[in-house]
Amino acid sequence: MSDKQFNFEADTGKILNIVINSLYSQREIFLRELISNASDAINKRIFETLSAGEAGNTFDGAITIAVDKKTRTITISDNGIGLTGDEMVATLGTIASSGTKAFMESMDTSNKGEIGDQLIGQFGVGFYSAFMVAEKITVISHKHAADEVNAWTSDGQSGFTIASAEREAVGSDVILTLRKDAKEFLEQERISYLVKKYSDHIAQPISWVNKDGDPEQLNSSIALWTRAPKDISEEDYLSFYHEVAAAYDAPFATLHNRTEGTVEFTNLLFVPSSAPFDLFEPERKPKLQLYVNRVFITDSCEDLVPKWMRFVRGVIDTPDVDLNVSREMLQQNPVVTKIRKALTKRVLAELKKALEKRHEEYQSLWGALGKVIKEGLYEDQDNKEKILDISLFKSTKANELVTLQNYVDNFAKGQEFIYYLSTENAELALNSPHLESFEAKGIDVLLLSDPIDDFWLANMSDFKGKAFQSITRGEIDLSKVGEQTKKEDEAEPVLNDSLVAKVKHALDSHVSDVRSSAHMERSLARLVADENGMDPQMERMMRMHNPDFKGGPKILELNAKHPLIKTLNERLEAGEFDGSEKFAKLIFDSAMVSDGESIADPREFAERIADVMQQALEKTG
Ligand code: ADP
Repeated sequence: MSDKQFNFEADTGKILNIVINSLYSQREIFLRELISNASDAINKRIFETLSAGEAGNTFDGAITIAVDKKTRTITISDNGIGLTGDEMVATLGTIASSGTKAFMESMDTSNKGEIGDQLIGQFGVGFYSAFMVAEKITVISHKHAADEVNAWTSDGQSGFTIASAEREAVGSDVILTLRKDAKEFLEQERISYLVKKYSDHIAQPISWVNKDGDPEQLNSSIALWTRAPKDISEEDYLSFYHEVAAAYDAPFATLHNRTEGTVEFTNLLFVPSSAPFDLFEPERKPKLQLYVNRVFITDSCEDLVPKWMRFVRGVIDTPDVDLNVSREMLQQNPVVTKIRKALTKRVLAELKKALEKRHEEYQSLWGALGKVIKEGLYEDQDNKEKILDISLFKSTKANELVTLQNYVDNFAKGQEFIYYLSTENAELALNSPHLESFEAKGIDVLLLSDPIDDFWLANMSDFKGKAFQSITRGEIDLSKVGEQTKKEDEAEPVLNDSLVAKVKHALDSHVSDVRSSAHMERSLARLVADENGMDPQMERMMRMHNPDFKGGPKILELNAKHPLIKTLNERLEAGEFDGSEKFAKLIFDSAMVSDGESIADPREFAERIADVMQQALEKTG
């Protein structure tokens, strides 16, 4: 076969340029990436050999590194699964299938000029990171169980070639011709240091091959999780975490346990301290790696942890899953189910402990992961109470996040319900007319603004016997709760029936009712849902998903204490006023605006405002 020339997909060259130039300060990580690919390839070959039942066909995985100073090349070789020519085109020929893509996508949404090491570190930048140090890369590969050997060559600019090649044994050589400024990677000392730093725990031996062909092992090649925790240093854990989670932060918690009993397994799990870059991907896939007796099986076993726990990264190793199990079969596997139960319990206990013992750090952890943990309140029937125990919330009175227990412990006098206000964002909540009476009476209100909140609240009636009560739904009687804001004998101001009737008539189908309310101090009016209706924030969310969704009409509550309402009331009573319809509409609109809602007929609204201003001018002029 003669050389075949391929062009990179549009933009690939450009993308590579950015990768090469902006990753510069981190370029040593190319070695970690290539070793990790080699190790994956070996794991795949072991897995295939075992699941094909090729008894006796076992082999020892090995990764070697050799350099040639004359040609300025460094070669990373493995005896893994290998690649066919077609696979080379599909996986090496296009950035779309490599870790580089995730990296580039994140760059699309961030400022390309300011990519810090932090951000870069969040991604395995994959095979292409080798172009940071290489002016040319050749991959020679002999695919397992296929009689095919090919060489892929590229300068990382416009494209690549594929030609047939020679390689006796199954596996791959990745040959980098180093750039002139990257000669440091020809030195054994440097390579040895980097292997220890990034790849020490890689299960296969990684050896340096000297000029005489003698291999010298550089890593300890003991899968870290198989060692006893007391023999593992903080740095070991840290570098393993960085590798396994493609993270650069320090883990919030490290859980390394061995479990024996009905199922046997080892877990080395990390709770990250900041949100992993892929946490909010719509697939919500857990990324834990599953091993069977140190043989890598998969990192996409969806049942290993509940979806809300997808921030947990690390490794599970069990002898109790059959190696020949297909990856799909893992889905209803009873062993996996048992492991999931145990892991969930363990992580929840760890978070509970942290909540009690590491107050400040937990507050910040909650900021990073809380949104996702709360998904469990809705989805994880078995654990929702426990999740509720470790959940933190904003509230109107506390200046830090509080637990529900904190909130209940600080109930105002006579308070029986957990009051909450659910809005699109907390700023909107803080200035809401709905809070005025609670503020005046010194009653704390939880402020919820995560989309998931309304869903779990719809499914959860109480916390330890205290019912949740939305303050934007139904009629709430605060007359016996909190501080008294009026004297014993002071009567509530009452509204003239005809005012209520006129407002109601003017607003027609826009509201289901109009009533006087003691729930406001400064505001004119507010809109609440009916006792049996859907909470307004839930309606807003339904509308986001389905623009045609029509919520039920709201009840308009008027603040009978407000000077304007009072005057309006008096004038109507005295028969001196006929502009009530225009006023009614403006009052309704102002209640909509204070909830952050848009006004249905902005043009009419503007006209009404102009009218009222005109009249005010005429009166004062
Ligand atoms: P990722 O590892 O995140 O998928 P990479 O860019 O590192 O992305 O690699 C792309 C793909 O190329 C790998 O998924 C794998 O299929 C293939 N590959 C890379 N190196 C090797 C290797 N040494 N042996 C076999 N396949 C490899």
